[in-house]
Amino acid sequence: MARIPPSPSSSRPLQALVDLSALAHNLAQARARAGSRPIWAVVKANAYRHGIENAVRAFGAADGLALLEADEAQRARDAGWRKPILLLEGVFEMRDFAVVDALDLTVVVHCEDQLAMLEHLPADRRVSIYLKFDTGMNRLGFPAGQANAVRARVAALPQVQVVALMTHLANADQEQLPGPTVRGQRAALHALAPDWRGAWSISNSAALFLHPDGGPEAVRPGITLYGASPAAGTSAESLGLRAAMQLQARVLALRELAPGETVGYGSRWTAARRSRIGVVTCGYADGYPRTAPEGMPVWVGGCRAPLVGRVSMDMLTVDLTEVPDAVVGSPVELWGPNISVDEVAQRVGTVGYELLSRLPARVREATAGA
Ligand SMILES: *Cc1c(COP(=O)(O)O)cnc(C)c1O
Repeated sequence: MARIPPSPSSSRPLQALVDLSALAHNLAQARARAGSRPIWAVVKANAYRHGIENAVRAFGAADGLALLEADEAQRARDAGWRKPILLLEGVFEMRDFAVVDALDLTVVVHCEDQLAMLEHLPADRRVSIYLKFDTGMNRLGFPAGQANAVRARVAALPQVQVVALMTHLANADQEQLPGPTVRGQRAALHALAPDWRGAWSISNSAALFLHPDGGPEAVRPGITLYGASPAAGTSAESLGLRAAMQLQARVLALRELAPGETVGYGSRWTAARRSRIGVVTCGYADGYPRTAPEGMPVWVGGCRAPLVGRVSMDMLTVDLTEVPDAVVGSPVELWGPNISVDEVAQRVGTVGYELLSRLPARVREATAGA
C-alpha cells in the first residue's frame, strides 16, 4: 500500500485569498482620514483572519499594531514588525509581563487587577501603558469617577509610563439614543483628565471614517483596513475601501434538474424550470453561514448567481441556469471584491466582522498582490 507523504497539503479547492495591495490601499485610506495622527492598525483575531504576517507586510505605514494575544504579538515580531505593539486587553496574569518585556509591548490597563499587578512589578522594570477609561460603553475601563485616584496610583510607580488615555466608543457606527454619542464620549474622556498633556486614543474605524472631526489622538481602525464596512447602511466601496479577502471555492459538479425536482437536505428548493445546478466546494464547516437564505448571491463566470437549497457542511448549491460560462472547475467567489462580505453578512443578520474573523483553520490562506 502506498504511504501517504508527511503533511500533505490539501488540494481541496477552497481558499481565503488575501490581497496585500488591497490591505495597503485601505491603510492609505485610513491615513488620508487620520492625517498626522498616529494609526494603530488593529490586527486582533489574526488580522480579522487575514493573517498577522500579511498584515505586517501590508501595514508598514502604520505606527503600530494592536492585538490581544502574546502569540500573535510574537508572530508579528517574528515577521519583522519593529514598531510598537499594543495589547488591547493588557495582561491577564503576572507572568504575561515577561512577554511584554521580551517583545517590547505597550499594554492597556483597564481594571483594578491590572493596576495591582503593575504595583507588584520590580522597580527596575519599564512598562508603557495606555490607561483605559469607561465613558459609556460599560465594558472595559476604569469608571470616570476613579480617574484621579487611578492616575495618582500610576504616577507613583516609577516602572510605569502612561503613554495615552484611551476609551472605546459604543455607537460610532450609528448613534443609538439614549446610548452615549461619539461627541459625548470624547468630551467625557477629556473632562476626566483636563490637566493631561500626553496622548489620547479614542477612534475605531467608524469614528475615523464617519466622524472626521476628531481631535489629536492615536486612532485604532480595524475592520476598514480589511475592506469591510464599519456601519450598516454604508458600503465599504463608498468609503473608498477594497475587499482584502476573497473566499474562493470552485464548482465541483453540475446537475441538470427537471421542473419539480429538488436540491439537497430537506429539499428546501424546487426547480420551477429546467435548471442547471452547480455544487460548490464551501459549506458551513468552512465558515459560510448555514442560515444563508435562498437567493444569497455568489460570483461565478462573471455573474451573480443565487444560492439554492440548504448550505451543507462541505458544499453549497447554486443555480447556474443563467451562467452558461460556468463549468466544473470554475472559480466561485463567496465573498470578496464582487460580492461584499457586508452583503452576505447583512442577509444572515450579522456583520462582516463575524464572517471574516471566524473563518476556520480548515480554509487555507493564500496571498496575492505582493
Ligand atoms: C477591535 C477594536 C478596535 C477596532 O475596531 P473596528 O471597528 O474594527 O475598527 C479598536 N479599538 C479596540 C479597543 C478594539 O477592541
